[in-house]
Amino acid sequence: MTGNTELTRRWQGSLMNNYGTPRLPLVRGEGAKVWDADGKEYLDFVGGIAVNALGHAHPAVVDAVSKQIASLGHVSNLFVAEPPVALAERLLGLFGRPGKVFFCNSGAEANEAAFKIGRLTGRSHMVATDGGFHGRTMGSLALTGQPGKQTPFLPLPGDVTHVPYGDVGALRAAVTEDTAFVIIEPIQGENGVVVPPAGYLKAAREITRATGTLLVLDEVQTGIGRCGHWFEHQAHDGVEPDVVTLAKGLGGGLPLGATVAFGEAAELFAPGHHGTTFGGNPVACAAGLAVLDTLAADAALDHVKSVGERLRQGIEGLGHPLVSHVRGAGLLLGIVLTGPLAPQVQQAAQDAGLLVNAPAPDVVRIMPPLVLTDAEADAFLQALPGVLDEANGQGRTGE
Ligand code: PMP
Repeated sequence: MTGNTELTRRWQGSLMNNYGTPRLPLVRGEGAKVWDADGKEYLDFVGGIAVNALGHAHPAVVDAVSKQIASLGHVSNLFVAEPPVALAERLLGLFGRPGKVFFCNSGAEANEAAFKIGRLTGRSHMVATDGGFHGRTMGSLALTGQPGKQTPFLPLPGDVTHVPYGDVGALRAAVTEDTAFVIIEPIQGENGVVVPPAGYLKAAREITRATGTLLVLDEVQTGIGRCGHWFEHQAHDGVEPDVVTLAKGLGGGLPLGATVAFGEAAELFAPGHHGTTFGGNPVACAAGLAVLDTLAADAALDHVKSVGERLRQGIEGLGHPLVSHVRGAGLLLGIVLTGPLAPQVQQAAQDAGLLVNAPAPDVVRIMPPLVLTDAEADAFLQALPGVLDEANGQGRTGE
C-alpha cells in the first residue's frame, strides 16, 4: 500500500466526511511547493484556499511562532499580551484610519462578529449577495448566498435579503432605514472569482451611507495582499467601509480571523457581548505580524501585481480553445473556460503536478502563495497547455 492510499484509508475511519474524499494526502511544503505521501512534488496554486500568503514553511513565520510559543503561548482574555495589540496597530495602520479590532479564529467567526455588531445598531434587517460566501456557522451561513448550502439547516437566524451581486439598482431597492448592514465581497471568491462592475463598491457605500446602514466588506479571501493591495477595496477609489472581515492569509497558516471596525461601529461591542477563548492568541498573532512585516519588507504587493499579470497574460496568450478569459485581481484569478470542464482540468493539472481548484463547473481558480516566483509562474504556464488538452480529451488521441 502506498503512503497516499494508506493515509486516505486512515482518514476514512477517523475524520467526518465534511469535504468528500481528500484529493491528496500532503505531508510537506516549502514555498509554493508541496509533496504528497508518495513523495510526488506539486506546484501549489491552491495555497490552502488563499491561506498561504508567504507559502509553506516560511522562515519568518516559523521563527515568530517558535519564539512566541516558547515564551508565552496563550493568555486568557482576562489579560492582554503584546502580539494582539501590535497586530491590531499594524492592521489599522494598513487601513490608514483609526478603528478597533476583534480577533477570532476563522473567516466565519469574523463574520459572526460583524453580524452581532450589526445587531447592536438596533436594526434587524441585513442585505447580502447571491452567490456570496461568508462561512458555514449559522449566522455566516445565513449571509452566504448559496441556497444549496443553506437548505439542510433552515431556519437560519436573521432577516436577510439576498440581491444579485454587482446590481446597484437591486441593492438600492433592498436597503432601507431598518437595514443594519450590507455585506459584500469585493470579489466573490468561492462563487468562481466573480468581479463586480466598476463603481459597485462606491455605489454600495453611497446607498448605505444614505440610510445609516453599515457597509461590511468580507475581505477574508481578497485581503492581505491577495489582490495586489493590502485590502481589495483600497483599489476602489475612496471607499471607506464600516467593518472589514479578515482571515485566511492573515495567519500565515495559523487559525486567525479579525473583524476590523471603524467609527461608531468600532464602539458597539461592550464587555459581555462577544468573545472566544483563542481570540488574540499570541502565537497566531505573532504569525500574523510576521506575515505583514514580511510582505511589507519584500515589496510583495508590487510583486503580486506583476506576477499576477504575468499569469493572466500568459494564460490568455496561449490562445487555447478551452480558455475564454481570465478574471480576478493580483493572485486571485479565475480561468473562465469555454465549457464546464473545470473538474477535468483540476484532475489533469494534479496528474501533471499542479494543484488548482474548480469553484464552478467552468472556472478554474488559482491562488498561489504571494511569494510565487516568476520562474514558478512560467513553469505553470508551460505545463498548462498539456493540462488543458488532456481535460479537453485531445490529450487522449492516439492512445
Ligand atoms: N468569507 C469568504 C469570502 C471566504 O472565502 C471564506 C472561506 N472560503 C469565509 C468567509 C469563511 O472562512 P473560514 O473557512 O475561515 O470560516
